Amino acid sequence: MRLTHPTSRRQSRAPLRYLYIGCALAILAIVGIVTFLLVREHASAERSAARSANNIVQLINLDVQRNVDLYDQSIKGLIEATQHPDFQRIPQSLRHRVLFDAAVTGPFRGDILWLNPAGDIVADSRRYPPRQANFSDRPNFQYLRDHPDAGLEISAPFHDRIGNLGWCISFSRRMSSPSGEFLGVASGALQLAYFAELFKSLSIGKDSNVNLISEEGLFLAREPEMPGQNLIGQDFSQRPNFRRVVREGSGSFVSTSSLDNKERLYTFAKVGQLPLVVIVALSTEEVYAPWRRTVAFVGTATALLCLALSWLCLMMGRELRRRLSAERELATLASTDSLTGLANRRSLDRTLRTEWARAQRNGKPLSLLMIDVDHFKAFNERHGHPGGDEALRRVAKVIAGCIRRPADLAARYGGEEFMVVLAETDLNGALIIAETIRNAVEHQPPYGNDDRPVTVSVGIGTHRSRSGLKLEDLLAAADVALYQAKDNGRNQVGFRERAVG
Ligand code: GH3
Ligand code: MG
Ligand code: MG
Repeated sequence: MRLTHPTSRRQSRAPLRYLYIGCALAILAIVGIVTFLLVREHASAERSAARSANNIVQLINLDVQRNVDLYDQSIKGLIEATQHPDFQRIPQSLRHRVLFDAAVTGPFRGDILWLNPAGDIVADSRRYPPRQANFSDRPNFQYLRDHPDAGLEISAPFHDRIGNLGWCISFSRRMSSPSGEFLGVASGALQLAYFAELFKSLSIGKDSNVNLISEEGLFLAREPEMPGQNLIGQDFSQRPNFRRVVREGSGSFVSTSSLDNKERLYTFAKVGQLPLVVIVALSTEEVYAPWRRTVAFVGTATALLCLALSWLCLMMGRELRRRLSAERELATLASTDSLTGLANRRSLDRTLRTEWARAQRNGKPLSLLMIDVDHFKAFNERHGHPGGDEALRRVAKVIAGCIRRPADLAARYGGEEFMVVLAETDLNGALIIAETIRNAVEHQPPYGNDDRPVTVSVGIGTHRSRSGLKLEDLLAAADVALYQAKDNGRNQVGFRERAVG
């Protein structure tokens, strides 16, 4: 049963839904954009750290390359001197000076040696007469002996066996006669301590380090040194990070150090043509420190912004809900009769127009019940106006209780008159309902000690199909039927069917 025409609840909640969806989307967009920017910033922090680490690697490369050239120059000088036609004529005591004249000396430059075909030292840049040692077992020596076309040969790192130079690498060239006969090897050693010294001059930041490792995985130098640990000479070939370095050749990646379990950004490359790898390991904590500060600041600001937005949205939602409920209440009030709670005249007119148009469209019958309380003037006189009001409320309640279909509408037409709109109901249906109402009103409990029951007369107007009649004709039909019922003695149902099928 429909007493009034309240605005659909679902429809009225739509703006509220849009507000919440819009707010959620705005928050999602803000979080999405901020996350995207922070992820990009993170990648750019890593890129710029890798770039500066790579610059360090390139600097080391340049310095090493310069040293290799100097060594080669010294070795070539030695070979040229031995091949000079006058060399044999120089007294032994002067030969040392001639041989090592081109040798460049420096704090970390080791010996330059001339080895005979048997691998024994013929001349030694460090001492005259030369020290006694044989190098024929060295892979470098053997390679140069067996390959007449070999150029500058760089050895794998080795531990110095005749001096106290520590770990070294050597640069060697074959000495050949004009006919290509093997005459020995000229070789120069470079102390790897040179790298440690070179690394010391670099500024790489806290918790970061620069490492030199041979291609075979022999640890050679590190700056800064690890307190309490001597890593030089240790085998790193099976460590996962080193294996990745060897696999990738050059580049950078983030990983955890197997030495101190700290996360670092590793940037690495081969040192020139040498069998050495430089690894610059920057502490990620330091690399990402500015980024973390940005995350903390932007994250907090974003969280606050989102909270403020949510709060604003909730406040607006609350206001909107209030407004919607006030609007709904107003709409209900505007369409309800204040005395009886039934639909008022305005709402009745609207429903009548709607149902009339619907009946016209679908050809279904439409019935109206015009209900008038009998002798109400006299009732009012007996019970006073408040009593009359109460009687009207009771009659309204009875009428409302007799109609059950959702599309039906009970309304107060005016004064002690009511109207019921029965959609898709023919005369027979309307008669049943009218009779039910009439009977129910008549059999209400008596008012006070009044022995005369309140009764109603009902007039039915039914419109059966597309007849070309107007709504006013249907209303008039119900009215006429009501007066018929009154004329016939009241407390009864009169009807008039205004249409031909
Ligand atoms: P009939 O059987 O022919 O309908 O007689 P009646 O007395 O009911 O009809 P009439 O039109 O002469 O009187 C209607 C009375 O209804 C007049 C008025 O005092 C009373 N009335 C109209 N509206 C209200 C109302 O809201 N409250 C009360 N208490 N009385 C009302
Ligand atoms: Mg009346
Ligand atoms: Mg009356």
